[in-house]
Amino acid sequence: MTNYMSCIEERDHVFLFNSMVGGGIVFDRAIMQYLDHSAQDYRCVYLKNSCPEGVKKLLFEKGLLNTYPSRRINETVSETNTDKEKAKMIGSLRLTLTNNCNCVCEYCYVDREYHDKNFLSEKDSCYFIERIIKMGGNSKYVIRFFGGEPMLYMDTISNVIKYCNEKLNDMSFEYIINTNLQTVTNSFFEIVTKPNVKVVVSLDSVKEINDVYRRSLVADSYYDTTVANLRKITKENANYVVAAVVTNMNRKSIQQFLELLVKNGVKNVGLNCARMSGEDILSFDEELVNDLYSAYIWGVNNGINVSGYWMLPFERIFTGSDGFYCGGLGFELDLRPDRKIYSCVGAKKPIGSLDKIEEIFSGDDYRRIGQRKAGNIKECSDCYINGLCAGECACNAEYKTGNYWGIDKNQCFFHQSLTEKLIKYHILSADRIEHG
Ligand code: SF4
Ligand code: SF4
Ligand code: SF4
Repeated sequence: MTNYMSCIEERDHVFLFNSMVGGGIVFDRAIMQYLDHSAQDYRCVYLKNSCPEGVKKLLFEKGLLNTYPSRRINETVSETNTDKEKAKMIGSLRLTLTNNCNCVCEYCYVDREYHDKNFLSEKDSCYFIERIIKMGGNSKYVIRFFGGEPMLYMDTISNVIKYCNEKLNDMSFEYIINTNLQTVTNSFFEIVTKPNVKVVVSLDSVKEINDVYRRSLVADSYYDTTVANLRKITKENANYVVAAVVTNMNRKSIQQFLELLVKNGVKNVGLNCARMSGEDILSFDEELVNDLYSAYIWGVNNGINVSGYWMLPFERIFTGSDGFYCGGLGFELDLRPDRKIYSCVGAKKPIGSLDKIEEIFSGDDYRRIGQRKAGNIKECSDCYINGLCAGECACNAEYKTGNYWGIDKNQCFFHQSLTEKLIKYHILSADRIEHG
C-alpha cells in the first residue's frame, strides 16, 4: 500500500511528515525504533507493527498515515471537471502586453524583437478579463502585467486597472507589474502607491555581474538605473519584491547582493533558478543547495525575506499541497501579444485563442494539465517529497525530457537536499514545527 510518511533526523529529534499533503510532527529520537527505513529513498518510512497504539493514534489523527492523495489534490484541476469548474480554478490572469523590451539580457526567455509592433491592446485585455470572470465566476483575481517590458505600454496598464476598478467594481483585484524599472513615469508612481498593486523588479546581482548579463538600451547601467528607481519606490512605500535569476555567474555573489539590497531598503527578494536552460547556465548541484540555503539563513538574520520556487516543497509541509508544483499551471491563463492564450508563463504551445476563448477548457491541451499532478507522476512515487514538489516545473520537464509527464532528474537532488536542510534548520530552531 502506498505510504506517504517521510522522516528527517536531526540530532535528538525526528521530524515525521506527510509527503503528499503536508503536515508533520517532531518526535524524540526514541521513535526511530518503530520506523522501517527500507524504502528506496531512505527518508520514506513505514511504521512497524511494534509501534505503541498511542503514537499510531497521534500519527493517524495528524494525517501522517494517510494512504491517499487527499480530496484537495483530487478535486483541483482535474480532467473530469466541467469547463465551468476548470474556469473556476483560474485565479490569475497574466497579460503579456508585449515582447518588446528596453533591455537586452543574456538569457531572456522572450523571443524578443525590440521593434516588434505586436502588443496587447487595452480592448483585448479587458475582453479577456471579463470573459474569464464570466466563465469562472470567482470574486477575486490577480491581474499580472508582463512582457518584455510591460511599462513600455504604461497607458494600457493604467487603463486596464481603471476599467477593472470602474466597470467590474463588485470584484476584488490584485495587480502585479513585472518590470526592469528602467523607465518610470508619473502614472507609474500614481499606481504603485495603491494598496492592491505589487511590483516585481528584475535585478540579478551586484553591478559588475548584473550589467554583464543585463544590458539597458536606454541607460548606461541597468543596475544603477534600477537601484535608483528602487530607492524612489521604497520612499513611496510601494509593495515590491526584487526578483533575481540565479545562474552559475551570480550564485557566488548572492550574499554581497543581499547586503546591497538591505542597504537600499529592500525587504523581499526572490531568488529564482534559471530554468529551461543548460548546465552551463545553472548546475543544480550541491553548491547551489548550499548557496541558497546560506542566502535564506542570511536573510533570516538580517531582516530580508529571501525566498524562491525552491522553498515551495518545504512551505507546503505547513500550508498543505494541492498536488501541483506551482501556482501557475492550471491556475493561471496567459494572454500574449499574438492574442493566443497559454496555460502559464513557461508554456511554449497555446491552449487556445482570444477569438475562441470559450473552447480553451474543453481542448486536449488543457486536459493534460489536470493529469500532471502529484500521484500521477510515476517517477516521483518513491520520493520523500512526492506531493510537496509534485514533479517540479512541468514546462521545464517537457523542455528537458521532451515528455510532459517526465521529470528533470537533475533538479531532484537539488529539491530533495535543500528541503532536507530547511527542515533541519526549523527543527533546531523549533520554529513552526509541531512537537508530539
Ligand atoms: S528585462 Fe526581461 S524582458 Fe527585457 S530583455 Fe531582460 S529578461 Fe528579457
Ligand atoms: S509550470 Fe513552470 S513555467 Fe509554468 S508557472 Fe509553473 S513553474 Fe512557471
Ligand atoms: S521531481 Fe524529483 S524531487 Fe520532485 S517530486 Fe519528483 S522525484 Fe521528487
